[in-house]
Amino acid sequence: MADQTAVDDTTDQTELRMRARRFLDTNARRKRARDDDDGEGLFDEVDAVGEQERIAEAKAFQGKLFDAHLAGITWPREHGGCGLGTAEAEVFNEEAAAFELPTGIFLIGHGMCGPTLLALGTEEQKHRYIPPMLRGDEIWCQLFSEPEAGSDVASLQTRAVRDGDEWVVDGQKVWTSGAHYSDFGMLIARTDPDVPKHQGLTMFIVDMRSPGIETRPLRQITGGANFNEVFFTDAHVPHANVVGTVNEGWRAAITMLMNERMAVAQGGGMGGANIRSVIRLARERNLDHDPLVRQQIADLWIRTTIMRYIGIRLREAVKAGRVPGPEGSIAKLAGAQLGKDLANVALAIAGPQGQAWSAGDPTGNRWATALLAAPAGAIAGGTDQIQRNIIGERVLGLPREPQTDRTVPFRDLLVGTQQAS
Ligand SMILES: Cc1cc2nc3c(=O)[nH]c(=O)nc-3n(C[C@H](O)[C@H](O)[C@H](O)COP(=O)(O)OP(=O)(O)OC[C@H]3O[C@@H](n4cnc5c(N)ncnc54)[C@H](O)[C@@H]3O)c2cc1C
Repeated sequence: MADQTAVDDTTDQTELRMRARRFLDTNARRKRARDDDDGEGLFDEVDAVGEQERIAEAKAFQGKLFDAHLAGITWPREHGGCGLGTAEAEVFNEEAAAFELPTGIFLIGHGMCGPTLLALGTEEQKHRYIPPMLRGDEIWCQLFSEPEAGSDVASLQTRAVRDGDEWVVDGQKVWTSGAHYSDFGMLIARTDPDVPKHQGLTMFIVDMRSPGIETRPLRQITGGANFNEVFFTDAHVPHANVVGTVNEGWRAAITMLMNERMAVAQGGGMGGANIRSVIRLARERNLDHDPLVRQQIADLWIRTTIMRYIGIRLREAVKAGRVPGPEGSIAKLAGAQLGKDLANVALAIAGPQGQAWSAGDPTGNRWATALLAAPAGAIAGGTDQIQRNIIGERVLGLPREPQTDRTVPFRDLLVGTQQAS
């Protein structure tokens, strides 16, 4: 695959491709030919000990990648990146696709927080935070969602009140992936409740080890605990940590959410089943000639192929310097549905063994876990319904949802705990 695409390379791109290939051959595991795994996802199941080992492995790998001048291909040189274009990033990605990279824990930092800081941060912020983020020394998380503000994140209630050179933060976030091992987080908080909900928000860089920040892991139906509740109680954040402009945090949030959709659509991964693993399972169970199973597999194969083409289209858009539009939502929606159907078909083929396995079998839980993990893909990064709204409005040209709360001061809205007052 890499050799085929190399035909279009410039001389510099060929040099980069060869350098990347040499580095990856030396420092990463090649995917096996019949590999069941699409590489490490942010939400793969690991216990606490396994998680510490995974973080150490990820940091060691990322440090070597940085030292080899292969980290942050499009990020500016003055902040530790390579200063190259999206076409070069694609060259690296094509090479990396053949390997299992242990870098899932950096998805939020490198895919979302970094690009937002590069777009909106001060020079001091970029100088302080970008190089260690890129080197993998510091891990980042995203502090947006709250118990009453997920799809409608502009309804969030976490408050930040100015106190001299600092802001005092109070409130609660939830579903914060990786908060328990993160060093920093990108927080959105309400700084002016007297203006409409989208206008009084501000983005902050938060040191996750500051006093007044408590992180409590949440146990998921899969058994893992990858995301958290994060409580802020009189937590002090320096004014210098404001990202962008005070009360213009919605713009910053949108910048980060666009990057999130692209990162998720381009393959953050939720773990789970894939078409190759389902076909292999059908063969193992001697069901590959069963007409019903064949029909299901053919359907999954076709949809997997379509997803691959959508992925190519997305990458081409990025390569051409465009921020992908609603095709990101189409990819997100179709990918989430495919993930659920793959897991369902796999579990049906696996039969009773998919649901009960011997205690000594380390991979016996894989189909059950795939099924339980699949719904997360339909929620994270914007739910299926929200993607449908976007596709309806921006692809099909349907009328926008009525939004009666866009001009009312946030203080007067009946949202969250304000409903009780
Ligand atoms: C695996 C995973 C990782 C996550 N990681 C993070 C993270 O790191 N940081 C972070 O801040 N958040 C994170 N989230 C949270 C995620 O962004 C939210 O769960 C998501 O935005 C949905 O919000 P909600 O759960 O509050 O559901 P709600 O917004 O309350 O939605 C409930 C239901 O109502 C539907 N709905 C809501 N509004 C509309 C509408 N306008 N039209 C039609 N239907 C609607 C939704 O589709 C859903 O079915 C993560 C979530 C998951 C699953």
